[in-house]
Amino acid sequence: MQAKDLVKYLVIVTKATRRMGIIVRSFASREKPLSYSEDNIFAKILRGEARAAKVYEDAQTFAFMDAMPQVPGHTLVIPKYPSEDLFDIPPDNLAATIKNVQLVGRAVRAAFEAPGIMIAQLSGRAAGQTVFHLHFHILPRHHGLELKFHAREFEDFAVLESHAQKIREQLAHIKS
Ligand code: AMP
Repeated sequence: MQAKDLVKYLVIVTKATRRMGIIVRSFASREKPLSYSEDNIFAKILRGEARAAKVYEDAQTFAFMDAMPQVPGHTLVIPKYPSEDLFDIPPDNLAATIKNVQLVGRAVRAAFEAPGIMIAQLSGRAAGQTVFHLHFHILPRHHGLELKFHAREFEDFAVLESHAQKIREQLAHIKS
């Protein structure tokens, strides 16, 4: 082998080794393997297979009333991207989702005349996550009004619909 060919060969081997290192490191840095299940209830809502009191939708996100609200007006914003938690969503999809947490949060705050808004995101069973499709909770808070237990008691769908309607009306004001 000539010296010129040997150099070329070494460059190829070095590049390949570096690429393998990047792949191995990026898998090693994941907290868990890709394990998103299309059977989760939010994936079914996104596919139209389960009902939801819809508040807002755009190309990348969907917002709807929590079926077991901890306070009246408890709303969820989810990405359409199939991510299990905060750590397996590409940053652009996450940015679109957070943008709409702010938008929908404004509408929830106005609709429920809430002096405070609580945003919650649970990633992982140990944190209390019960539905394994990334979501952000928006909870209107009032002095002296305690939160009910998490994911415990279903609300009537008609009540959820009336709350969604109030929020949609505020969204229409905000967006006009
Ligand atoms: P987390 O425990 O953070 O994963 O939150 C899951 C949330 O989803 C809980 O607040 C539940 O009340 C809510 N939830 C569960 N099933 C439904 C459903 N079918 N529609 C709307 N919200 C739901």
